[in-house]
Amino acid sequence: MKLTFLGAAGTVTGSCYLIETENKKFLVDCGMFQGIGLEERNNDEFLFDPREIDFVLLTHAHMDHSGLLPKLVKHGFKGDIYLTPPTAALGEILLLDAAKIQENKFKEYSESMPYKSVTSLYDTLDSINTIAMFSSISFGEVKNIDKEIKFKFVKAGHILGAASIVIKVEDKVLVFSGDLGRVDQSIIERYEHINLEGFGKADYVIMESLYGGETHAHRDESIAKFTDVITRTLDSNGSVMIPCFSVHRTQELLEILKEAYTQGVIRDNVQTFLDSPLALRATRIYEQFSTYFNTSTEILGKEVVYDEAVQANKDNARYVPQNNRFYFENLKVINRYKQSLRASKKNNSIFIAGSGMADGGRILNHLSAGIENPRNTVLFVGFQAEGTLGRKIIDGAKNININKRNLEVKANIEIIRGFSAHGDTHALLDWLSSISLNDNAQIFLVHAEPDRSEAFDKILREDGYHSHIAEWKSTQEI
Ligand SMILES: [Zn+2]
Repeated sequence: MKLTFLGAAGTVTGSCYLIETENKKFLVDCGMFQGIGLEERNNDEFLFDPREIDFVLLTHAHMDHSGLLPKLVKHGFKGDIYLTPPTAALGEILLLDAAKIQENKFKEYSESMPYKSVTSLYDTLDSINTIAMFSSISFGEVKNIDKEIKFKFVKAGHILGAASIVIKVEDKVLVFSGDLGRVDQSIIERYEHINLEGFGKADYVIMESLYGGETHAHRDESIAKFTDVITRTLDSNGSVMIPCFSVHRTQELLEILKEAYTQGVIRDNVQTFLDSPLALRATRIYEQFSTYFNTSTEILGKEVVYDEAVQANKDNARYVPQNNRFYFENLKVINRYKQSLRASKKNNSIFIAGSGMADGGRILNHLSAGIENPRNTVLFVGFQAEGTLGRKIIDGAKNININKRNLEVKANIEIIRGFSAHGDTHALLDWLSSISLNDNAQIFLVHAEPDRSEAFDKILREDGYHSHIAEWKSTQEI
C-alpha cells in the first residue's frame, strides 16, 4: 500500500493525500493551494488519473481542503465524496461560491488579456456535479467500503462539521487529524480524543502542525482586545470595518458582539451591519446544526450558558437560547448591493463584511467609503495572505486602489491575531497522546510552514515518537 503527500506538505494549503492499495485508490481531501507562489499549483495536472479514484474522504469544508473537488470531478472522478452532514451543507455554499470566483477571474482575464488563453479551474456546473456526489456519514458511524477498507469521522473542533478520520486499510490503521481546533474552542464542541475500538492500534498518524511549538493566549484576551478596539473607535465617533471570513469567524464575532451589547460594553445606539450574503448563509447553516454546539462559553469574563439544564447548576451564568446565539437587536443584515452602498456611508457603526482578506466582496464598499477617515478603524481578525489587499494594509500601505480609485489610508489599522481556529502545540500533543499507537507507529507532520513543523517534529522526537515532516509529492510504502 502507498501513501502520497500531494499537498499541505511543506506548506499550509492544498491538503490532499492519495492512498493506493492493490484494489483501490482514494483521496483524503482535495484542497486548493492558496497564496503567492503556490496558487499556480492549482493549474497543474493531477499526479493521478481522477477516473481511477474510487472515493474521497473530506475532513472539512475549508477551501484548502475541498477547493479542488470540482476540478477532480471535471476531470472524470465518479465516486462518492464522504463527509459529515454539516460539512456537506457548508461545502455546498462554499463550492458554489468558489465556482463563481473562478468564472469571474476568467472573465477579467479574457477582457484584459484577449489574446492570452486562460481557463478557469472549473465552473458552476462542475460544483453542482460535485455536490451531487456528497455522501454524508455521521460522526462516529463506521462505514465499510469493502472487506478491506472502513473508516469513521471523529470530531476535530476547528469549524462546524470538521473531522479527524480513522481509516482501516488492509491490516493497517491510519489516523488523519484534519485541522484540529483549540482547547478553548468557540461555538462548537472541542476536538474528541481518538477512540480506536473496532479498528486496532494506529500504525500511521498524519497530523497538522500549524502552531507546532507555539502557545495561544486565552481566547478571552483576544475578545477583550476586540471590544476595546471597537469601543475606542466608537467613542471617538468613528466606525469599525471588519473584513471577516464567512464560516465560523463571522459567527464567533456575532456571538461576542451580542454579549458585549448585553453587558453594555457597546452602546445601545450603535448598529452592527452584517454585510455578506455568504456569511449569512453560513450562519443559517450553523443554526441548523446547533446540536453540534457547546453548551457554555466565556465572553468578557462572564459565563454564557446555552442550555437550561446546564444553567440550573451554575450561579451567575447568563442563559441564552441556543437558537438565538448569533442575533441581537442592534444587528442589521444587509442583503442587496445597493443597501450595502447606502450603509457604508453611516457613521459610528460596526461593519462585518467579506472577504476575510479584503481581496473582494462587500468590505470593499466600506473600505472605499471609510478608509480615508482618521476616526475610523479597520480591524483585522484573521490571517492575511501575501498578495491580498488586507496584507497590503496591515503591512502599512499609505495608498490603496479600490475599483480604480486611489485612496489614502488614514483610518487606524488594528490586528488581532488570537482568534485562530487551530489548536496550539499543547492541544496537538494532547490529541496525539490520546491515540493508542503500535510500537513502530510513524507520525507524518503536514499543514504548516516549515519552521512550525520542524519545531513540532523536534518536540515529538524528544517525547519518543517516530516523527517525520512530510515532503511534497513524496510516497511512503506503508
Ligand atoms: Zn480548516
